[in-house]
Amino acid sequence: MADCIFCKIIAGEIPSTKIYEDEDVLAILDISQATKGHTLVMPKKHFENLLAMSGDEAALLFSKIPDIANRIVNNLGAEGMNVIANCGPIAGQSVMHTHIHLLPRTPNDGGPDFIHTPTHDFDLDEVAKEIIG
Ligand code: AMP
Ligand code: ZN
Repeated sequence: MADCIFCKIIAGEIPSTKIYEDEDVLAILDISQATKGHTLVMPKKHFENLLAMSGDEAALLFSKIPDIANRIVNNLGAEGMNVIANCGPIAGQSVMHTHIHLLPRTPNDGGPDFIHTPTHDFDLDEVAKEIIG
């Protein structure tokens, strides 16, 4: 897609730090490292985000992630990892080409805390009914 920065990276028109590439997927280091080794895994085909992908397209992308993620964790000596996809500007997506953030985690790494967010007192049965329809 013409104006997409990640399509330009995939095409080699903009430099990036690649850590994995095959015919379907590219993994690069995020230019802004939330933790050491913060990686973005993206399909080479342009989709706005995961919500715009079919199950098969998403499966192809996610099929590559465990190997990439384990290589990062093992070779950087991390103890775990956050795997995140921001879908849509309301969810914090700033680059509109599907990408999965991999954040290797080590103790006191200064990375984000996704666990201790405020909880809300929704009626779970009502919410489930709304979703299922
Ligand atoms: P998101 O906000 O979830 O859409 O994530 C987009 C990510 O892309 C951000 O973490 C940016 O730091 C990262 N980013 C933007 N431009 C580049 C670039 N040229 N090379 C590597 N990462 C980038
Ligand atoms: Zn793109």
